[in-house]
Amino acid sequence: MQAIVVRQFGGPEVLRLENVAAVTPGPGQVLVRVRAAGVNPVDTYIRTGTYPVKPALPYTPGLDLAGVVDAIGPEVATWKPGDRVYSDGIGPTSGGCAEFAVCAADRVHALPERVSFAQGAALGVPYATAWRALFTRAHAQAGDTILVHGASGGVGTAAVQIARAHGLHVIGTAGTPEGLALVREQGAHAALDHRDPGYLDEVKALTGGRGVDIVLEMLANVNLDRDLEAIAKGGRVMVVGNRGRVEIDPRKCMSRDGAILGMTLFNATPADLTRIHAGLRAGIENGALSPVIGRELPLAEAAEAHRLVMAPGARGKIVLLP
Ligand code: NAP
Repeated sequence: MQAIVVRQFGGPEVLRLENVAAVTPGPGQVLVRVRAAGVNPVDTYIRTGTYPVKPALPYTPGLDLAGVVDAIGPEVATWKPGDRVYSDGIGPTSGGCAEFAVCAADRVHALPERVSFAQGAALGVPYATAWRALFTRAHAQAGDTILVHGASGGVGTAAVQIARAHGLHVIGTAGTPEGLALVREQGAHAALDHRDPGYLDEVKALTGGRGVDIVLEMLANVNLDRDLEAIAKGGRVMVVGNRGRVEIDPRKCMSRDGAILGMTLFNATPADLTRIHAGLRAGIENGALSPVIGRELPLAEAAEAHRLVMAPGARGKIVLLP
């Protein structure tokens, strides 16, 4: 079968398409014919070899996939060949950027007919992260106001859709006119340009001077200190993304009885994931959630996909098609 293989850590150029031995499912595993593999920023961090998750070389990257069950291993009663599935973002056993991938049977979920395989490959990391950040960690509730700080990408578009569907008042940011239009299309009540120097002042204006209950932050190293000015009393800054160090004035947090929270999807417990994917499936089935696919590239262009996912001008999700 064909698969992307990383033989040494490094830049996008280390991603090579190769013919590799077929993978087979063991006990409690399913073999999935991959129809789409989602590309996430974390795949690029892992590829550099400097991230806490460091796979043994050589490895096939890819945490998110959607496809069709091709075969089941021993002791699997929940799936049969032909079932449409997507992986939960914690990662298939053998890497999603391949024609076939082995997944633990309890790490895949039924993919509703109303979404495509490409959309299915956006559910694991981005949607589960957005859900866990909103509800498990930041305790979002209907009526809350949220700033999705970085709303045009995979996690941001998911967060806007999920928050809107749950009755939150949503302000989202993007850095391009296309991104701003996309954020509005996903249901945001207002969209602000994070390249515009005064944009955070508008958050105050949009909330009658009160500030937001939650900031969902995609780039904390740039924004964390200003986020603390954007929250209302009792507000939470939920750090989802960060790419460096930052200096903050803790007094801004103290004066608001505020909180800075962190999260990583890898900390989700099996019980968390069961709840999260039940919620996501309900939203997909009733049409409230519909992943945005900005780019589809052939599997051979994995290196280009890794470059694009780290470039400005996000438009939802980038997926690779084997
Ligand atoms: P993505 O699709 O590449 O989107 C990146 C987002 O960040 C875009 O909306 C981009 O907007 C925005 N952005 C760029 N500059 C910004 C700024 N100055 N202020 C605010 N936002 C800015 O990535 P993603 O998949 O949505 O992931 C977003 C971040 O969360 C990444 O850092 C990723 O590593 C992290 N993440 C963490 C977890 C976790 O478990 N904690 C899980 C998934 C992702 P424009 O391109 O429009 O400028």
